[in-house]
Amino acid sequence: MELRKDPITRSWVITGDDPAETGPRPELSCRFCDNSATPQQVIAKSPNAPGIPWSARSVVHPTPLYRIEGEPGRRGDGIYDRMHSVGAHEVLVENPHHDRHLWNASDDEIAHFLRLAAERILDLKRDPRIKYVSLFKDYGKNAGQEFSHPTSQITATMFVPRRVLYELRAGREYFLSKERCVFCDIIQQEERQAQRVIEARGDYLAIGPYAPRVPYETWIMPRNHDASFERTGLNKPGLRVNLAALVRRTLQRVRSITEEFHLVLHTSPSSLHPSKNLGYWRTIDDDYHWHIEILPVLGSKARSYTFKEVYYSPVSSETAVKQMREAKIDG
Ligand SMILES: [Zn+2]
Ligand SMILES: [Zn+2]
Ligand SMILES: [Zn+2]
Repeated sequence: MELRKDPITRSWVITGDDPAETGPRPELSCRFCDNSATPQQVIAKSPNAPGIPWSARSVVHPTPLYRIEGEPGRRGDGIYDRMHSVGAHEVLVENPHHDRHLWNASDDEIAHFLRLAAERILDLKRDPRIKYVSLFKDYGKNAGQEFSHPTSQITATMFVPRRVLYELRAGREYFLSKERCVFCDIIQQEERQAQRVIEARGDYLAIGPYAPRVPYETWIMPRNHDASFERTGLNKPGLRVNLAALVRRTLQRVRSITEEFHLVLHTSPSSLHPSKNLGYWRTIDDDYHWHIEILPVLGSKARSYTFKEVYYSPVSSETAVKQMREAKIDG
């Protein structure tokens, strides 16, 4: 696997012929249920319940896309740019129980997972080679789910992924002209108009974005300005439980529409990497605002994924939000 940069869009892609990618790996017993089979454990949270040795933990991905060893060896190739896929790739085991997911676990369990995620992001950002840490979850066959156990994944990369880079650049431009955070402005307008708010819970808000990329796209964001998830995620346990409840309830709403989804956390890049090229670092604490994006996968409406030049969503945000507000939620 290596990283190549598209000289036109300036985005990095990971590519190469991977012999492991020949089909789904058969899973005889669950590697994440079996405590003894995970020698590469990175961290384990202290238990809540007696008899259970951990509540959420992080292990190195069995077939990592990025490896921590070695030098990136970034080099030119004519007009092109390439480098080795140096970084980190971890699996976050959300829960010791095979059947307790982010939508049916307790808020305490989900809060433990959120804390673990924050700790891992902060720890990986300490490596001066790392520019960005992504947390994501793919659930369902059509979403590219890899393991049957409740898991999310983390990648730490030497570049900022394309979508985040767009957001960072746009956030900075908006701030330069208005001296306000574009995400804070969105939150203010959405709360005022109350048309696309799915649910407000304590300091967090779930909304359907004004211009969705897929039907039922949902964002979860803190109502108070904060560029970095890991800061909130670590400092305020009360907030974490509120966020856990909103994630759980929102996923229940999404699942009233479809079982399959992508979830991704967007947080600020590593501040150890002041980059003159990108130029957004001076105001980044003011112009970026962390959030979670949930992109449901609708088999019958998969057309939205095939025409990626212009996103096409055959359900308006207002209709989607109305339906999700009325979804039956337990607890
Ligand atoms: Zn399992
Ligand atoms: Zn903001
Ligand atoms: Zn985003």
